[in-house]
Amino acid sequence: MSPALPGYEQAAAIVASRIAQLCPLRPSSEGVELALAAGRVLAQPLIADRDQPPFARSTRDGYACRASEASSHRKLALIGSSRAGEAPAGPLTSRAAWEIMTGAPVPEGADAVIMLEHVELAQGQVRLLPPRTVKPGDNIVSQGVQARQGDELLPAGTPIQFGQIALAAACGYAALDVFVRPRVAILTTGDELAPVDSSPGPGQIRNSNAPMLAALVTAAGGDPWILPTAADTAQALDSALAQAADADMLLISGGVSAGKFDLVEPALARAGARFHFTGVRIQPGKPLVFGELPVGNMHTQGKNGTICVFGLPGNPVSSAVTFLLFAAPVLAALSGSRQSPPRFALARFASPAGKHSKKDLTRFLPATCSFKTMAGSLPEVSLIPMQGSGDLPALARSNCFLVIPEGAPPIDAGAIVRILLA
Ligand code: AMP
Ligand code: MG
Repeated sequence: MSPALPGYEQAAAIVASRIAQLCPLRPSSEGVELALAAGRVLAQPLIADRDQPPFARSTRDGYACRASEASSHRKLALIGSSRAGEAPAGPLTSRAAWEIMTGAPVPEGADAVIMLEHVELAQGQVRLLPPRTVKPGDNIVSQGVQARQGDELLPAGTPIQFGQIALAAACGYAALDVFVRPRVAILTTGDELAPVDSSPGPGQIRNSNAPMLAALVTAAGGDPWILPTAADTAQALDSALAQAADADMLLISGGVSAGKFDLVEPALARAGARFHFTGVRIQPGKPLVFGELPVGNMHTQGKNGTICVFGLPGNPVSSAVTFLLFAAPVLAALSGSRQSPPRFALARFASPAGKHSKKDLTRFLPATCSFKTMAGSLPEVSLIPMQGSGDLPALARSNCFLVIPEGAPPIDAGAIVRILLA
């Protein structure tokens, strides 16, 4: 093992410092219909167009009242009724109550709502049943406690999911400005690769990395652009790299190991690439290459006229792991997102304890994690038996990767471990 190779943390720090240079960069934006905005990144701050809630609102079906009067258990005369959707009404006079439905505006003068189930109702009067009492504010959400009109509720750079969509809808955004997705070129290399829809010849395998990486890119907020597969020749790689110059980021799969036909690194060097690292002490994924490729267009990367390029090892598990660990954070930054992968979690190791070799590498092994935890317990993670990092069935059955740090002793069943979430 070459001591010159960075370990996982060091390689992650190199990627993070490159991301820090990207961060002032603001991608261009476009408008999308609110319903289509999930998975995108806000390019505008979300502003409250009115107080939230816009009026003091009852959270129960019951009777609006003055808490002190209701708590004395006297009978209160019913003097009005409000249902959801009606304009705020009132005033509530003293020794009176007001019928109210969930979501309706609380009448002026009331400071609590007593629940339907907690009163005695007779002859147009209600009485809170002893020994219950209420406090001012009970069962009411006051106007503006969640947000004030004009408040910035979410900053630009927030990834949009269901909660952000609901908030945007509540604030009257029928469309949102979102960042344009970065275009990520995917260049698979290898003489052995056959298209998915073909019958592979002897010695050939189907190109599974192209669609896999496209799916990873989409999930990470990018716009995948699959280039034609390049053969393992200098000429094929040179012309493929020239094509990729139109992208915002380049992922190359295969051809970065030490073999005779691993020609990607020299091709990148011929294209003028500068390397941040050419190998990391991880498994799978040790031959990973990260660098900068000069491009003519400069359309997103700005000043230095380069795009980030990753040479991912061709084995599918290696490609997936190295993407999640190193390419996904760069992609998140290019997409304008304030959230940065990778995501790790703690889990309890459920597999029988197994020995592991390769103590000088941080390992990321396909695993399944059950997140159906009981209160106070951690998710349980089990290793999936894997026959090498080309084991696609193992990859496809996994939902995370068990992290085994460099130099770690064998893991006992029941130990708390770290997992990389896919
Ligand atoms: P390489 O990184 O080019 O040395 O390839 C390592 C292993 O990954 C070899 O067994 C390749 O056949 C396999 N491989 C490379 N590219 C792909 C791909 N696009 N899809 C599936 N397997 C691949
Ligand atoms: Mg190859």
